[in-house]
Amino acid sequence: MPSSTSSSTDDPVERARRVLEAGGVIGLPTETVYGLAADATSSSAVRKIFSIKGRPADHPLILHVADLAAAQTLSSRWTDTARALAEAFWPGPLTLVVVRSAEVLDEVTGGRTTVAIRIPRHALALRVLQEFGRPVAAPSANRFGRVSPTTADHVRADLGADVDFVLDGGPCEVGLESTIVDCSVDPPQILRPGSISAEQISEVVGGVASASGPSRAPGMLESHYAPDCLVVPVDVGDASPNDVDRVLDGRSEPARFAHDLYALLRECDRLRLRRVAVLLPADSGIGRAVRDRVFKAAARRSH
Ligand code: AMP
Ligand code: MG
Repeated sequence: MPSSTSSSTDDPVERARRVLEAGGVIGLPTETVYGLAADATSSSAVRKIFSIKGRPADHPLILHVADLAAAQTLSSRWTDTARALAEAFWPGPLTLVVVRSAEVLDEVTGGRTTVAIRIPRHALALRVLQEFGRPVAAPSANRFGRVSPTTADHVRADLGADVDFVLDGGPCEVGLESTIVDCSVDPPQILRPGSISAEQISEVVGGVASASGPSRAPGMLESHYAPDCLVVPVDVGDASPNDVDRVLDGRSEPARFAHDLYALLRECDRLRLRRVAVLLPADSGIGRAVRDRVFKAAARRSH
């Protein structure tokens, strides 16, 4: 057996860092879903994210950083609300939208005056961010509009050779995308529900507006996270639907269901199921985020 001359190249975190340094893209494990990550300070690296995903250029990206100091350099107006939420929930599955600073590339924000920022709490993601030392743009590592990946295998299955390296951090702990709170408006507004609930956010900042009606958030489409099978949401009190190939129960353990949801939808597609019923959890806590994703998975794409 040849003796290893450089142990550092065997370290997956070091390999991820080098790919980012070289302007490449990696599959990055986080506690929410796997991200398609690139150097957010490089226009050409950021453009690769859009082209690999097939994502419209006006759908802004979330920037991931290792610590609060790095987050603050990305914003020219760090409000009391942003400060309080960051202190309460970072590192964690919460994204804050704040007024951007001159440091932030237009490609990242789609030319907006605001930027979305998060410090993830996955140990490997944090190590990559610490060692890379620059912000990393990372939307979910799937093609635009499709189901987000929650394992390294999902990323490889979706993006294959289009990613330079996939850092395997195991299955994602939460399984749904981060909660997004817009702190550039008063009162702050939840743009996307996630595992950090509206109730938890209200406890920290008092009044918070929940997204209702047409969302102010760019890229919040009615159809998103869509599998090939037809998803039929079933609320408490709804009649059981006929003619479904499988029933997924999101009612009894919503957090566990959130963790499993995307893998279950992928499994349904692998089995080529046509109609899948989802028993919806109650509209509170993480149940609200589960319902949001199930309704988006159920909205038919135009075809
Ligand atoms: P993701 O699809 O998980 O990458 O999340 C990106 C979402 O974050 C976008 O679709 C927006 O809803 C939100 N977002 C990102 N940047 C901004 C921004 N500058 N202003 C408002 N919302 C943003
Ligand atoms: Mg996504």
